[in-house]
Amino acid sequence: MNYDVIIIGGGPVGMMLAGELALADVKVCILEKLEDTTPYSRALSIHPRTLEMLDLRGLKTELLKIGKPLPTGHFAGLETRLDFTVIDSSSNYSLFIAQSETEKELERRARELGAEIRRGTEVSSISPNSEYVEVVATGTEGEMTLTAAYVVGADGAGSIVRKQANIPFNGTDETLTSVQGDVVLKRPPATSVVSSFDENGMIMIVPVSKELHRVVFIDPDRKSIPKDTPVTLEELRSGMLRMLGDDYGISDPYWMTRFGNATRQADRYREGRLFLAGDAAHIHFPAGGQGMNVGLQEAMNLGWKLAAEVKGWAPEGLLDSYHEERFPVNSALLKNTRVQTLLFGNDFSSTTIDLRRLISNLLEIPEANYRLASQIAAVDVGYKVLDTVSEHPLNGRRLAEIKLRKDNGDIFSSYELFREGKYILLNLVNDQLVEGIIRRLPNQHFTCVSAILAEPALDWNNVHTAMIRPDGYIAWAISDQDSKLEQCIKEGITSISKG
Ligand SMILES: Cc1cc2nc3c(=O)[nH]c(=O)nc-3n(C[C@H](O)[C@H](O)[C@H](O)COP(=O)(O)OP(=O)(O)OC[C@H]3O[C@@H](n4cnc5c(N)ncnc54)[C@H](O)[C@@H]3O)c2cc1C
Repeated sequence: MNYDVIIIGGGPVGMMLAGELALADVKVCILEKLEDTTPYSRALSIHPRTLEMLDLRGLKTELLKIGKPLPTGHFAGLETRLDFTVIDSSSNYSLFIAQSETEKELERRARELGAEIRRGTEVSSISPNSEYVEVVATGTEGEMTLTAAYVVGADGAGSIVRKQANIPFNGTDETLTSVQGDVVLKRPPATSVVSSFDENGMIMIVPVSKELHRVVFIDPDRKSIPKDTPVTLEELRSGMLRMLGDDYGISDPYWMTRFGNATRQADRYREGRLFLAGDAAHIHFPAGGQGMNVGLQEAMNLGWKLAAEVKGWAPEGLLDSYHEERFPVNSALLKNTRVQTLLFGNDFSSTTIDLRRLISNLLEIPEANYRLASQIAAVDVGYKVLDTVSEHPLNGRRLAEIKLRKDNGDIFSSYELFREGKYILLNLVNDQLVEGIIRRLPNQHFTCVSAILAEPALDWNNVHTAMIRPDGYIAWAISDQDSKLEQCIKEGITSISKG
């Protein structure tokens, strides 16, 4: 066998996953048809939960040097923006950064960790059997046949992996398209974000770089034009004049494209030895800037599970839990993008204008704003825990960063513990009981850390011991009041691995 895992597609999701697998010492290869990172950035933002995950692996610091933190996000371009600052997170903002920069950083990390990246290599067929998967691709050295125990399709919306595995891509076709142009504005608008909706359409303008602005426009008269119809600068200019009374001196298009609202989700994210992640598994109107974000979250979910399976310690059902956990999250995502599309692309009547105003007013209520902000930020995602673990409010929730204190008084971030991508057993009372249990248990696949809370943290005050997954979700937490402390810790530890 050539590799443990072959990833088809080296976009952001493939690169992130390759890094995760290489971190766990899995022999992984990416086959990517492009020679270089595409310079045309679709995504421009990394939202709070994704930033937290990147922070777990020490990647946030690098990205912060390039991007610009923004305190708000949007839902359907409504006037009242979503306030990320109230989220209980050390990443309570969105990072404004071009997708190409994110991809380059993820590729750098994957290579550094030892992933093999074969660019200029296009995959034409995937044939799984009971023991391995055969992949045929054509690269600079001609046609090649490679084998791996597992193959992940991170090959975008038109995924060859999904098609050849005959996995249905259920959903709805495109009924609406929008135009987008990254252009020079000789007289840029005074505010950093322009967003407007009226009977003439929907328009948004945001800066992309020092030189370029992105103009996104939905024209009521041209919203049924198929997405592969070329975009003209005139389309953008006339939209700006019609809606804003100024074309801001638009010129020099760097990239113009049309995108649509086809909304689909793969029926299953796993078919035996094949997996789907990112746009290969789901597509939707890019509303609220979520597609790349959920894809990166999927890569974090799948990476350690696949690594555990390759290394032989995954408990039964762990690989299937990838679909079980992520499918419902993405079903909710498709619902929220459909609703957003309805609000800013369906019709431009006075009723829709009134509806938008009404929802925008409701978003001024902090609780309502928080609910939607948490959804777009993906900090509301949690996973079901095993029936066997004792109840605790932290179970299944994401780990928000907490500050911990070592025996010697040094204070450190809980996120620093996750650089190696391992399970962390956090012993918060420095109890010898935990040490004793660990000494008696074989086959350990976690790192045990003894420390105490350096400052109060919501729901953590009574925690005796907690097991946190490599992707930063709490597998179980046990209260210091638990009457069966020893038994619960023992069962909790044995539940995370086989044997
Ligand atoms: C206009 C627009 C704006 C967007 N804005 C945002 C945003 O602000 N925030 C956000 O989170 N998301 C946004 N998105 C969505 C985001 O861009 C995608 O969700 C993201 O790129 C998906 O990443 P991926 O790695 O799954 O797929 P892709 O980025 O599509 O990468 C797939 C890779 O697979 C390669 N490939 C395909 N087939 C083969 C093959 N047979 N052999 C070898 N290689 C192959 C391709 O060359 C490509 O590099 C936006 C999308 C659009 C269209």
